[in-house]
Amino acid sequence: MKITDVHCHHLSYPLQEPFANSRQWVHERTAHVIEIHTDNGLVGWGEGTAAIAVDAIKAHLFGRDPFDSRRIWVDLADQGWGNVAAISAVDIALWDLQGKAVGRPIYQLLGGASRLKIPAYASGLFRRQRPHNTKALTDEAQGYVDAGFGAIKMKVGLGRHYDVTNVAAIRQAVGDQILFAVDANCGYDVGTAIDVGRRLADYDPYWYEEPVAKNDVAGNIEVRLALPGLRIAGGEQLQGLSAYRDLISQRAFDIVQPDISIAGGFTECQRIEALAQAHGLRVLPHMWGTAIRLAATAHWQATIPDDPEGLCPQPSLFEFDMTENGLRTELACEPILATDGFVSVPEAPGLGIEIDRKVLERYSIN
Ligand SMILES: [Mg+2]
Repeated sequence: MKITDVHCHHLSYPLQEPFANSRQWVHERTAHVIEIHTDNGLVGWGEGTAAIAVDAIKAHLFGRDPFDSRRIWVDLADQGWGNVAAISAVDIALWDLQGKAVGRPIYQLLGGASRLKIPAYASGLFRRQRPHNTKALTDEAQGYVDAGFGAIKMKVGLGRHYDVTNVAAIRQAVGDQILFAVDANCGYDVGTAIDVGRRLADYDPYWYEEPVAKNDVAGNIEVRLALPGLRIAGGEQLQGLSAYRDLISQRAFDIVQPDISIAGGFTECQRIEALAQAHGLRVLPHMWGTAIRLAATAHWQATIPDDPEGLCPQPSLFEFDMTENGLRTELACEPILATDGFVSVPEAPGLGIEIDRKVLERYSIN
């Protein structure tokens, strides 16, 4: 099997209602999608978060065998493709092709699934421009519980009063049994993160995500040690194994959250997973993208064993983005949904999804 053609698609989906995390207002959802063709008529799809220089990548990939995915990864990284968020898209597409070539889903190529139904958490509860914001947030949270989710995540990092008021209201609304995580998106300095974290601890947050800067090893450690019993999560923005090295080896996090379309695709995420496992840290992938990234994340997360395995393992929780995004809900002919709080891993060859080209064209801004 040889690569014969490559197309890149820059997609944009305008939101009907903008929303914010601690860092920015979001008005559109965007994605960089790659499509790789081979001489046996197969097409592989991948998604990254950085633009891909199409002529350069064509020249690099033409004539190569998609089964040489690790070698291609290293060659791209060595030859100036420093942006791992672009290499991620290539890597995912190569694995899609490998699966399609042998008629197997990617989770089998990765060594087999630990689960084909992954418990999901509803990732939403953003800040919006609306009156009675706390009531709207509690209604949204209750809606997720009513839809069958046993776990939810809310955006914090929006000021001590905002965070404490809204976390308290949501905990009150959903009760004690719902797993409730909070995400500050690197919105605080160390002192503020600790101050807010101590106040939020009264409401039993399961994890406290990105309390401080993404690559601040000492800062994350300081927050973690100051908040015993509160798990610190992070890593969603990091590119490549080496970016994780000190944060994992110095135990700056309890939970590591690589994003398959940023951290380097299946090839690199398996290495990051191994490093985290060697240090006793949990891996719960980040997911914030199109149907392609959703499928890729599901295949990888399906294969991550419970650690430790046992009668009552810590759940593998899939980040299910609940916000409006046609790139997630329309791009695959059969969308991947969270049903009764679980995501089913596609079982068809490769990523197991078929791309709707009409949708691809509709949102393309190439
Ligand atoms: Mg996050």
